[in-house]
Parts: sequence; C-alpha cells; structure tokens
Amino acid sequence: MHLASLSALFTTVLLIFLSLSEAALPGTWPTLDQAPPMKPEWAKLVDLKKLPKAPVQTAQAADCSKAVEFCIWSCNTCIRNASDVVACPNNKEWGISYDDGPSPYTPALLDFLKSTNTKVTFAVIGSRVVERPEILQRIKDEGHEIVIHTWSHPSLTTVSTQQIIAELKWTELAIQTAVGLTPKFMRPPLGDIDDRVRSIITQLGYKILLWDRDTFDWKSGSDPSYQPSWITGNFTQWVTDSKGHISLEHDLYPVGAANAPAAVNIVRNAGYTIKPVSVCTGLQPYVENVQLVASGPAPPNATDGTDGTANATSTNNTSSYNSSSNSPSSHYLSSHALLIVLIISMAIFNL
Ligand SMILES: [Zn+2]
Repeated sequence: MHLASLSALFTTVLLIFLSLSEAALPGTWPTLDQAPPMKPEWAKLVDLKKLPKAPVQTAQAADCSKAVEFCIWSCNTCIRNASDVVACPNNKEWGISYDDGPSPYTPALLDFLKSTNTKVTFAVIGSRVVERPEILQRIKDEGHEIVIHTWSHPSLTTVSTQQIIAELKWTELAIQTAVGLTPKFMRPPLGDIDDRVRSIITQLGYKILLWDRDTFDWKSGSDPSYQPSWITGNFTQWVTDSKGHISLEHDLYPVGAANAPAAVNIVRNAGYTIKPVSVCTGLQPYVENVQLVASGPAPPNATDGTDGTANATSTNNTSSYNSSSNSPSSHYLSSHALLIVLIISMAIFNL
C-alpha cells in the first residue's frame, strides 16, 4: 500500500477513535458548575420593565422581611398558582422527582425504574448533561420527564437577572442538543424563588416545579447525623393522607439514589399511581409534541427494592442496559475496539 494511503488510513482511524473516546456532548460549553456567560440574543426574551422590584438577595440565607410582598417560597412556602406547581392535583397520584443529575448513580436508578415500569421526573443540571448525555438519552427513551434545573445550581434570588437567563437557557440548550427536547418545566435550586425570579422564568416560557414533600436526602452528603432510614420513614408517613403529592429526592448522592427503590415501592404499595409531573398536572412536558404516560403495573418478576440499597436494581435490566447502543459501556467497548484496530494497523504497516 502506498505510504500516502497508509497515512490517510492512520489519520482516519485516529480521528474516529478520538471522536468516540470522549462521551461528552459535542460543542463548546461553559465551565462545569460555574455561572455561564450570557448570550446577547437571549436578553430580549425578558422584558426588564415587567420585573417586580424584589431586591436581589445578598446571601443564601434569605432576607425574609419582604416575604409576603414578593412571595418568597424559601421564606414561607408562598406560591403563585398561575406559575408554580407544588403537588399533583388529584388524590392518589404522586410525582416522584430526582434532582441534580445525571450522575454516576443515575443508571442503577434507571434500571430499577425500568424493571418496575415506573415513570418519574428528573430535574437535570445542564453542565452534567454535557458530561453524561448518554444518561439523559436513557431518561428520555425510558419515558421519564426531563426538567431544567440550572447550569451551576445557584440560589436564584441571589443572582442577577442576566445570570438567571443564562443558567436556564444554557441548560435548555444542552438538553436540546443531547436529546432534541425543550422542557416546559424548570425547577429552581433549593426552591429559592421570589416574584422577580418568577417573572423571569415565566417570561422565558417555563412553569415552575416545586414540591410538597422533601426527603432532605441531600443532607446525607454533608451531615453525619442524617439517617438514610429517614427517607423511607418519611414516605411511609406521607402516603397515609391519600392526597396528591410531588416529592423531592436526588440522584446525585449515593444514599438518596440507593433508597429510591424502597421509596417508590412504598408509594406504589399504598395504591398511588406514580406519574411524570406533566402527566399528573395535565400540562405539556415539552415544546415539541411529545406525550408522556403514567407508570404501569410492575411486572410480576420485578425487584421489590425493599432492602434499600443500590443492589436492589434488576439484573435483567442491567444486562439490557449494557446492550443499549447509547450506554456508556458499549461506547467504551467501541472506543477500545477502534484502538485495537489502530494498533494492529500500525503494527502491520510498520507505522
Ligand atoms: Zn438541586
């Protein structure tokens, strides 16, 4: 073979390998977990003259002296019905939601949800979507709802209007790029909203997704006194009132993710139907014409998840996940197969 042909072969194989060895979302993206820059074309989406004059808070601990005037949820759980969704409106319906992923713990949780035919809602961080787009693809493909969280997870009452716009639009762009969907719901980090933040979010076209049942599972990462059993203990109490609810958990932390199966089973066994939030509220999940459905009955061979550990996930679905073309493992295998081809090519042609 001519040397130029060998060189072309070498370059082609190398380029294919490099393009597949990096799982991150293609494109140029802002820095992980840092406030993203504003794009000029986004500024016109929000009419600053319409914004209520709620003062930008100076610290995460909110100044609640104007909590009533500006309806600061983090002060007094004040809501505005026109924009805020707090609970599923119908009795015996439950919106289970997981925040802050996609994380390394999300695939095991997805395995469990798939094995039990359970449909939930994921509020995702834009920069983690860029890191793990293949997990977001699984979330979409398996019928769960995707909600915008933010790019860098700030308390929104403490940041500028420009930053709020950039946080939401970059996250929306990452989700669109990864899975081709434009969420209609967003969830504010820590539930930290006031009327200024509400107006920005509403003008951008989103509904605000809050919650009425909080596991505080995020404390497991920083508070040594937090007991994982509190998660399931809480759910056991919450299901007794038969009302509609939306609960908050996180798939970013191992304790929360590991206890998720047991919590799902408690809700199901109490006779609740678990639904994505757009399904239980009857609202559109996405700008695109996509309809989601409620959870179906769990198959008879589904895992019960009652031991509350990550190992409660179904082995059946773990194998089907590994065979998926979108899975990180198959990606990893294709990358390494190409590396082997590259090495063999170099050896054969003495490159
Ligand atoms: Zn969060």
